[in-house]
Amino acid sequence: MKADLPNREQAMLAQWEKEAVYEQSVRRRLDRKGSRQFILHDGPPYANGHLHLGHALNKILKDIIVRYKTMAGYYAPYVPGWDCHGLPIELQLMKELKVTDKHKVDRTQFREQAKAFAGKFVDIQRQEFKRMGILGDWENPYLTMDEGYKRVIVETFEKLEKEGYVYRGKKPVYWCYVDETALAEAEVEYENDPGPSIFVAFPGAGGVELVIWTTTPWTLPANVAIAYNPNERYVVFNAGKRGFVLAEKRVEEFSKLTGLTGNITGDFNMQGASARHPWIDRQVKVLPADFVAMDTGTGLVHIAPGHGMEDFVLGQQQKPALPILSPVDDRGRFTEEVPEWKGEHVFKANPHIVEFLMGKNILLHHEEITHSYPHCWRCHKPVIFRATEQWFLNVDHKGLRRRLLDEIEKIDKNKGWIPGYGKNRIAGMIETRPDWCLSRQRLWGTEIPASVPQKEPDIIDVWFESGVSWAAVLKRRPELSFPADMYLEGADQHRGWFQTSLIPSVALEGQAPFKTVLTHGFVMDGEGRPMSKSLGNVISPGEITKKFGADILRLWVASSDYGADVRLSQEILKGLSDNYRKVRNTLRYMLNNLSDFDATRQAVPYKDLPEIDRWALHRLQEEIRDVLAAYETYQFQRVSSRLVGFCGGDLSSFYLDVIKDRLYCDAAGSLSRRAAQTVLCAVVDALIRLLAPIMGFTADEAWRFMGHKESVALADLPVVDNSLLDSALVDRWKKLLDCRESVLLEIEKARTAGLVKAPRDVKVLINIRPEDMDYVSLLPAIFGVSQVEVKQGRSSSGLEIEIKKADGHKCARCWIYKNDVGTNNRWPEVCGRCADVLEDLARTGKITA
Ligand SMILES: [Zn+2]
Ligand SMILES: [Zn+2]
Repeated sequence: MKADLPNREQAMLAQWEKEAVYEQSVRRRLDRKGSRQFILHDGPPYANGHLHLGHALNKILKDIIVRYKTMAGYYAPYVPGWDCHGLPIELQLMKELKVTDKHKVDRTQFREQAKAFAGKFVDIQRQEFKRMGILGDWENPYLTMDEGYKRVIVETFEKLEKEGYVYRGKKPVYWCYVDETALAEAEVEYENDPGPSIFVAFPGAGGVELVIWTTTPWTLPANVAIAYNPNERYVVFNAGKRGFVLAEKRVEEFSKLTGLTGNITGDFNMQGASARHPWIDRQVKVLPADFVAMDTGTGLVHIAPGHGMEDFVLGQQQKPALPILSPVDDRGRFTEEVPEWKGEHVFKANPHIVEFLMGKNILLHHEEITHSYPHCWRCHKPVIFRATEQWFLNVDHKGLRRRLLDEIEKIDKNKGWIPGYGKNRIAGMIETRPDWCLSRQRLWGTEIPASVPQKEPDIIDVWFESGVSWAAVLKRRPELSFPADMYLEGADQHRGWFQTSLIPSVALEGQAPFKTVLTHGFVMDGEGRPMSKSLGNVISPGEITKKFGADILRLWVASSDYGADVRLSQEILKGLSDNYRKVRNTLRYMLNNLSDFDATRQAVPYKDLPEIDRWALHRLQEEIRDVLAAYETYQFQRVSSRLVGFCGGDLSSFYLDVIKDRLYCDAAGSLSRRAAQTVLCAVVDALIRLLAPIMGFTADEAWRFMGHKESVALADLPVVDNSLLDSALVDRWKKLLDCRESVLLEIEKARTAGLVKAPRDVKVLINIRPEDMDYVSLLPAIFGVSQVEVKQGRSSSGLEIEIKKADGHKCARCWIYKNDVGTNNRWPEVCGRCADVLEDLARTGKITA
């Protein structure tokens, strides 16, 4: 087993392909009677670039689970998929083609080009995923742009429409005026923006003025009402000749901000009050609304149902409903309905509107504030709320929202949200989410099946496309089934794919498309910052596989506490490489010592094994038990730390040391040496299988080195052999091992003091407990020294250890000091045991004297 991991991995990938390891792993389980199935349904990544570490974290976690389940005996086919439509590809392509106006594009031709663009990145990402050692049906993935898939998108849309879930309506939606399309909740990101905050006086009946507060002056032309909080007191505040109506709780702040002085002259009864638009000839309704807050503004909110969701809902509750005015075009410019600022972009118009209000002497206050404002996820420009005709999915139809929450609860009862906080996250979002806007005004996607043909037909939200993968993939592919056992994606998908999959599935199938949802965090740099080009801290998975090998990347994933954000830096990579080397060197050492061992003929029966060997077999069973339990509960961090710890600890720092003399110096066929090999064989066999789901390449290499003709991915996981457990023995040994720790410490002291050079030069004088007297002959090996002399009886002062120089001479072969070195004339340099071994080798002609 040579290091050079990156190159050896490449060769191994070719071998896996040639041997059809994935196909075999699936078929064998299918053929095996009584195999249970485990379907992990792949959430499709977006096909528009090279893979980053987030992809690696996601797909490697999936692969560890699929490999684990397969080796645990499950039928676990894995069908990868790609999300191929949508704005990101469309925008990248427009940039490439130097197109700026989507209206001037030949739709058919553009879609052909987009298809080729997506197809190119599907190929690139497929290669990059395969390089990470991810097994799956890479030749038959699912693509959301495939004709078959698109048919299911349309069918599902139509089914939902037929059942009354889908409707067309005019409602305010997030609108990107740059990309000229509606956006869904999941497609906006909040950023802090500066913006105006103004108080405007609306003329009311009886000479008073109602003071409203808004941060979007451009929505004033669409104003049709004023909302007040029915649970609050409203008063008239007299300042000079004018009487202003506002909430009593806001008077003090109002006076401070506006500089207006005066006094409250009495209560104002909001019920039945009326007002007029400040410059448009329009009666304005005054309406009660619980959402009007008292911590800011004036306690009166201007209502424009065409530009706000709460406004819209309030408007719909009225009889008759309030008109939905939205005098803004696709590019965010005022239409001719607003002659004052016609053609002007609404954000550019803001200061002009403020000036205009000032000129009319109705602007009472104006300041710039910073507020959290929604932005387009693609172009990062601030979006506007704008009422347009769109297709929506009604989340309250037939009690859908309740049913969604019930499903979420049901999954929670089966501990299906991993980590558990996922449940509250998605439930909270479902509780408050608005209807789902399903239509987009873009080019690259599946056209909405509409009865009226349009010149520029709407396409379906890409989140709907991936959201119906349970219908297009799980229910269609004969090798899969619905619902899936697991969906596994980043924690942001509670808002995205988990939700957009759950909604149509519960609506049409009455159940969630998944039984378990496992989420992971995001990848950060060593200091916990997001990786970004501007920070210069980006590490790509390709860089790691090229420099260190994919198994290091896989070990990183397995060593991570994936429920939270996961860090990676050069420093962390170094630590991972050290751990990797620990495991690899341990495997190599064991394998090298098994080269002349045939377990079927030479294994030593358990009853003939020395106690220390039985101790090792007991420890191995404990490892197997704990590692399997950790795999079963998806605690891969525990799996990897147990396995690395076992290699670096009990094996390398103890057991392998203790048996070294037996392995190297006892006669090849001696019982003592064969006993050690019997244990090594059991350990290495189990260890490789336990490592296989994580270090797919290294484990396979070691497995084949053992003489196996096919991949370890086709093997079964080890099981605990209870007959090898002996707790009484382990308890006895616990005391001796504690004693060993103390002895090693003393030897180290003697070494630093220059008394001895190596443990082999040492003779230990020690008082041991009477019950440990049976182990005296084993102590030199356990302590790694040449001699141990027991001082009978333990005094009250406890353990007494004395380090001396060993007696006799050093054997040139085994380096142990013995009194019988040189007793055999033919081999004057070596001890009696070694002389016997050499005699034997000489007799059989293996060496010459
Ligand atoms: Zn945009
Ligand atoms: Zn010797």
